[in-house]
Amino acid sequence: MRRILAIGYWLLAIGLIGSVSAQNIPAVPADSLPMDSTLADSEGDELEEMDDLEVNASGIPDWLTSHFSNDTLFVACDFGVLPRKIVVRTNNGDAVYKIAPQFVLGDTSLLNNHPADSIYRHIWTDERVNPYGNLFDSLVDDVHIPMKGFCLPAPGYVTSPYGWRRYRMHRGTDIKVQVGDSIRLAWDGQVRIVGWDPRGYGYYVVVRHDNGLETIYGHLSRPLVDEYERIYAGEVIGLGGNTGRSTGSHLHLEIRYLGNALDPATFIDFSTGQLKHKDEYVIGIKAIKQQRAAEAQMQWYKVKSGDTLSGIAKKYHTSVKKLCQLNKIKETSLLQIGQKLRVR
Ligand SMILES: [Zn+2]
Repeated sequence: MRRILAIGYWLLAIGLIGSVSAQNIPAVPADSLPMDSTLADSEGDELEEMDDLEVNASGIPDWLTSHFSNDTLFVACDFGVLPRKIVVRTNNGDAVYKIAPQFVLGDTSLLNNHPADSIYRHIWTDERVNPYGNLFDSLVDDVHIPMKGFCLPAPGYVTSPYGWRRYRMHRGTDIKVQVGDSIRLAWDGQVRIVGWDPRGYGYYVVVRHDNGLETIYGHLSRPLVDEYERIYAGEVIGLGGNTGRSTGSHLHLEIRYLGNALDPATFIDFSTGQLKHKDEYVIGIKAIKQQRAAEAQMQWYKVKSGDTLSGIAKKYHTSVKKLCQLNKIKETSLLQIGQKLRVR
């Protein structure tokens, strides 16, 4: 029982997640690792039970083989909220119980003091763009964000604004760039995600800024930063591209607070490249919540053969005029089968 508990503890403490560059993290000589760690468990005896979790010849514990690349051990620990990832280079003969305590519980420089950590309740993960659950919803008062030190990520014109695109929400501003153009960081911060999303963002970078915002840079041809890297406004974080769900090279720029996308055009005047509010931006929490509530009421209908505007209006207890307004169509517009009409 004790043993099962011990393994359960480590399975909790050591989760294994996708690939991340390990190049910034120095190799750890096995003999420098603490042999007897009192960090992981105050009783100590459970750690001894883990002795048989030796890594194999390629530096991979047998029970974790499928998750490892040859020389890199991906370690994530869960301090009760969400996993944080750290990377450890392993040597032959290393044991998880020897490596993990130092990094999981010892090297707090990787685990703590991320930008705006207290705002984000110490949640830091590269697993999801928005891992913050309902943190935003729990806000009541307006949030004041310092704007100092801003750099425009790319100087192009806007090809598509933030907002509803027919029945899909577009959570960023699209800016024209050429493949290979420099994409620059908006404010000082730390890289949270360098990701690949073939059906969405393509190659993308997510940065947590010191001012509490997070920005996302999508459709890059090449990211040029690493996860955890500390970077500064104006640094090139990647090259413009056309990867993911994108037609024509452009930058998809998102600005988020606690995972909630905000309209970048309320921060930046893209025609001049200047901030609209130079010192401080106030996120109006009440207004955003009202907007979200309205969005939650929205409803769409997929046009079928034989449908008419008046028939659809009747079905949804609305008027043809209202349908035309919502969908920016005329009463005489021809409906197409499969077309989605907003009905609320
Ligand atoms: Zn976009």
